[in-house]
Amino acid sequence: MSALTPPRDIAIVGAGIAGIACALSLSRELTPLVPDLQITIYERHDILSTSGGAINLTPVAQRHLAQLGVLDELDRMGSEGGADVEAIELFSMRSGRPIGSIDFVDQKGNGFGGYKGRRVMRIVLSMAMMAVIERTPNVEVVFGKKVLGGEEINEKAVLHFSDGTEVISDLVVGCDGVHSAVRTRWVDPDSVSQYTGMSFLQATIPTKSLSSKIHFRSSALNVSRHGSLLTSFIDSDHEQIFAAAIVQFDEAELSNYRLDSGQDWASKDRIRRDLRNEMRERFAKSALPCIREMVDSKADWMLYPVYQVQPGSRWCMNRVILLGDAAHAMPPRDESAAYALDDAILFARILSRYYQEPLTEVFEAYERLRRETVESAFKESRRMWDRNRDMGFLESRLKEWMMPFQIRNRREKRESAWEFDATKVLLPTPTPSEDMVSLNSFLREEKV
Ligand SMILES: Cc1cc2nc3c(=O)[nH]c(=O)nc-3n(C[C@H](O)[C@H](O)[C@H](O)COP(=O)(O)OP(=O)(O)OC[C@H]3O[C@@H](n4cnc5c(N)ncnc54)[C@H](O)[C@@H]3O)c2cc1C
Repeated sequence: MSALTPPRDIAIVGAGIAGIACALSLSRELTPLVPDLQITIYERHDILSTSGGAINLTPVAQRHLAQLGVLDELDRMGSEGGADVEAIELFSMRSGRPIGSIDFVDQKGNGFGGYKGRRVMRIVLSMAMMAVIERTPNVEVVFGKKVLGGEEINEKAVLHFSDGTEVISDLVVGCDGVHSAVRTRWVDPDSVSQYTGMSFLQATIPTKSLSSKIHFRSSALNVSRHGSLLTSFIDSDHEQIFAAAIVQFDEAELSNYRLDSGQDWASKDRIRRDLRNEMRERFAKSALPCIREMVDSKADWMLYPVYQVQPGSRWCMNRVILLGDAAHAMPPRDESAAYALDDAILFARILSRYYQEPLTEVFEAYERLRRETVESAFKESRRMWDRNRDMGFLESRLKEWMMPFQIRNRREKRESAWEFDATKVLLPTPTPSEDMVSLNSFLREEKV
């Protein structure tokens, strides 16, 4: 195949948010141009993963999920489809008093560009995304296919799987998350994921199991000097609360708290008890009664260490590109999923606009559009993330005192970011590469 033939066989690695969104966007944008298009997603799990707890979707994430047809699927699921989040309220666990709120609605109660926030279980979001995939004719998902690496041979991209098989395609999109094999075994082996020093300790708690008053409307971040505890409803009937502590956790300790399917009953029981104790030590003295009740309950807390990918890593080669966390995992701050969706929509738009150009030019245009945005988001996430580390008494009092000002000062920037629409962004023009000038880019240069 010549380098200028549009990609027809596209392999996507990973059926997470980026992978599925990428398949849906590519199908929508490329099908009219490449009628025999075939997109295949390779996912290492045998079925959709039920782990990971709940996720907050910002107005931007909701807008993009609506454009992909996923929001309608979530809405069709009724109460399970998620809880509306009008604001994340902030409370001090020391005093029990409100500190401020991050509002997902304006003063009239309207969402930004029509969308508020939503907290939904990850598995529910995955099911809604899969429902859209099932009615998209040229997209197939193959489960139980773990990618070990890949290579470029004769203007094709080859994926190698753990079962000894391989697949040859015109283009590979690596959407395999923070520990991406496509990145570490192919595109940029030096860019290994790093532990952020912080972990999530999370559990789901039935609302009716709590007798004390729930102090938040839909979602709250309860801050203390021993980390923050996010508490949020995850269904529109408010029957379930997702609680996630964001805490400093030593890397050397992580293996002592990891639950594995192969462990014996006694080890699992010991880990559950230790995690409960960890929660009690940190938050049992909270002035908020329902927090005290949550940490005293028999909830099964699970540990999720949080990893990141240092900015500056390589994103692409000639026939392979990384999107989502595989390219730029950052400490989560309610917006990382939105970046994965933005990536998918923007990449599909650029590829379809310049589908007759060399892929290297398409990749270069995409990177020019995205690199600065995600790297500055990384810096912002890192700065906010550090606020959750363990602190001394005075430092934590200062943090609490500063928070209302910081929330207010960033309000305008935050709210204008929520108006972002990846389907309307002006696309850059590819710069012809030195060694591969397409007829189209040559003609374009001639006209100029
Ligand atoms: C604890 C925690 C809480 C978070 N909370 C939020 C939140 O509230 N809001 C928010 O916006 N973001 C949140 N994030 C971030 C968000 O989850 C990620 O940014 C988002 O999931 C990235 O999507 P992705 O598709 O790039 O990667 P992933 O969701 O990680 O998906 C990667 C997929 O690739 C598959 N895969 C991996 N390796 C291979 C392989 N070798 N072969 C084949 N398949 C493979 C995986 O099984 C998975 O299905 C949170 C992250 C963490 C860790």
